[in-house]
Amino acid sequence: MPDIDWIDGADLCTSVWGILSGSVQPGNDIVIYDGSGRHPAPHCAEYCAMAGKSVKLVGRDGFLAAELTYVERVSWKSKLYEKEVPTRFDHRLVRAERRDNRVVGIFVNELTQKEIELFCDQLVVEHGTIPEDEVFQGLRAASINDGVTDIDALLAGSAQISSGRRQEARFELHRIGDAVASRNIQSAVLDAFRLCRML
Ligand SMILES: Cc1cc2nc3c(=O)[nH]c(=O)nc-3n(C[C@H](O)[C@H](O)[C@H](O)COP(=O)(O)OP(=O)(O)OC[C@H]3O[C@@H](n4cnc5c(N)ncnc54)[C@H](O)[C@@H]3O)c2cc1C
Repeated sequence: MPDIDWIDGADLCTSVWGILSGSVQPGNDIVIYDGSGRHPAPHCAEYCAMAGKSVKLVGRDGFLAAELTYVERVSWKSKLYEKEVPTRFDHRLVRAERRDNRVVGIFVNELTQKEIELFCDQLVVEHGTIPEDEVFQGLRAASINDGVTDIDALLAGSAQISSGRRQEARFELHRIGDAVASRNIQSAVLDAFRLCRML
């Protein structure tokens, strides 16, 4: 699920997932905050701009798509330049407020600590995801390994070592991909490959 509950004023914010999944309609005057430096924020900015909305993108990093490869970054930069989306970097979202029927995003400059306020009718936030782990936690006690992956075995390309653990149990339990931490498709595939190639 989107990781936005930490924001002071989270109830005034919309997640990029809400917009891109179509469950929330884009507003007319949108500020998108990019707190991950990955695909979702520029993706959302492009989507809203293509829908004819006024969009600004504010990023915590010093430049766009900082967590992506050079080629991916150039691609997103080109798209946002084409759509004439204004960008502002080095600014971290600290809170959201409602004033005069508008939403105000309050951002702090990471270098000067100076605050700025941006008014909009929709503040869209990208800050990665947090795993919904009820099923995982519920299964741990019934698993051979208590849901703990043997990292040494994983890195060595060996089978998971289950001796000394619950031998009466019928299955091992592991987390992969975004169930470990909010990352990308390659990480999820690599996690799965490392575990499954030794089955
Ligand atoms: C807008 C956006 C754009 C992105 N663009 C990129 C990109 O271009 N490149 C990239 O590498 N990454 C991108 N990412 C990140 C990428 O989508 C994730 O890192 C990746 O999908 C994680 O894979 P996963 O298999 O761990 O989880 P997921 O892809 O989320 O798969 C988990 C699956 O489990 C299902 N599920 C959950 N709970 C249950 C349950 N109890 N029972 C049964 N099924 C369940 C879910 O419905 C889902 O289908 C993007 C993310 C977003 C939000």
